[in-house]
Amino acid sequence: MIAKNTLKRTVSEGLFEKSKTYFPGGVNSPVRAFKSVEGAPLFIKKGDGCHIWDEDDNKFIDFCCSWGPLILGHNHPNVYAKIVETLQNGSSFGAPTRLENELAELILSKNPFIDKIRFVSSGTEAVMSAIRLSRGYTKKNKVLKFEGCYHGHVDSMLVKAGSGLVTFGTSSTSEGIPQSYIDETLVVELNDIDALRKCIAEYGDEIACAIIEPIPANNGLLLQELTFLQELRKLCTENNILLFFDEVISGFRVAFSGAAELYGITPDIVTYGKIIGGGLPVGAYGARKEIMAHVSPDGGVYQAGTLSGNPVAMAAGIAQLTELAKPGFYEDQEERTKYFVNLVNAHAKSQGYNFELVTIGSIFWLSFDGKKHIRRAGEINPDMTGFRKIFLALLERGVYLGPSGYEVGFISIAHTKEILDQAAQAFCEALDEIY
Ligand SMILES: *Cc1c(COP(=O)(O)O)cnc(C)c1O
Repeated sequence: MIAKNTLKRTVSEGLFEKSKTYFPGGVNSPVRAFKSVEGAPLFIKKGDGCHIWDEDDNKFIDFCCSWGPLILGHNHPNVYAKIVETLQNGSSFGAPTRLENELAELILSKNPFIDKIRFVSSGTEAVMSAIRLSRGYTKKNKVLKFEGCYHGHVDSMLVKAGSGLVTFGTSSTSEGIPQSYIDETLVVELNDIDALRKCIAEYGDEIACAIIEPIPANNGLLLQELTFLQELRKLCTENNILLFFDEVISGFRVAFSGAAELYGITPDIVTYGKIIGGGLPVGAYGARKEIMAHVSPDGGVYQAGTLSGNPVAMAAGIAQLTELAKPGFYEDQEERTKYFVNLVNAHAKSQGYNFELVTIGSIFWLSFDGKKHIRRAGEINPDMTGFRKIFLALLERGVYLGPSGYEVGFISIAHTKEILDQAAQAFCEALDEIY
């Protein structure tokens, strides 16, 4: 049996009372608010390896990993050392540094899909800039997106956009978006080739880009059929539409060059974020030379950033990506993830629970829809009672997940088999308790 701590939450509760007076909902990003689970969010004091500690000194195995960036776990010694070393020379200059070259070289030398890259400070900023570039390059205005894919809080992308919105809203489209923006966004169901063909047949010569999470992981884990992605590639080529892979979550996660590498599909324009910054705020977009030639100051598509390519953030990215580039890194990640997922799934199956961990690479998602392959947002059972219960049962057993049933879990290199054995046991006991 895993020891159940009756979770002390007094300090977190006190901090939350305060934070509610400072920030909307008491948080600086909505999914942190524990709205769909229960109680005050845990205020985290520190992290090390695969563990985090909250302000009440509860210790957890962390499967949130800052929502994905921390593929090496918390405080990886090389990332830590590189950040500290770099910081000794100052934190920001607003002028080029060699660190930007180094990170770009590390990425571009291994990535066959893009010739040039531009660093920004978040995934949202990367998507916003790359959409502008798609429009500038194609001289077309509309953007095709897929229901349930999240592309950051870019105005025109907050239409049917995944976890944050479905977790809180009655609507999956944000308020505050002008109808004229919404009109430029076409939304098609995932994994639906007929709907895609129809949309492109009707609007093809108005569509600048088709943006997709090639591994949709912000609204459950909606693994697509390869044929669907291949058909999307083909239709984009035939209709002069840029195929836009938003790899903010999948980039450097399922393979060094993301889902494009894993699936062998070449996108025209790509965005990265999360892992790329080693835990500091970095995003990036990239494309072939002739597309990137349109970006200012070479071309007429404007995009800039006071803290873009920030040296400390670049240093963290360099240290992290250097580890990921080592042979066998992704095989090892996947092997340990499968090991964990199989332990939990075997137990759920033997007990006849309608529960399964769905997985790819080092990502997993808790599906309460049994064995069914869920490939579209609308197929997920919206009743999140099961998730709420298991989330709390896991917290009491020292396991922390992102607090929403639409979010995925992440495994880092710090999640050793020994730790994963412990976590799997906690999952099995939590399942026994709730079923
Ligand atoms: C997280 C995410 C974003 C937004 O990135 P931020 O850094 O949170 O702005 C965009 N697209 C995808 C696919 C993401 O997973």
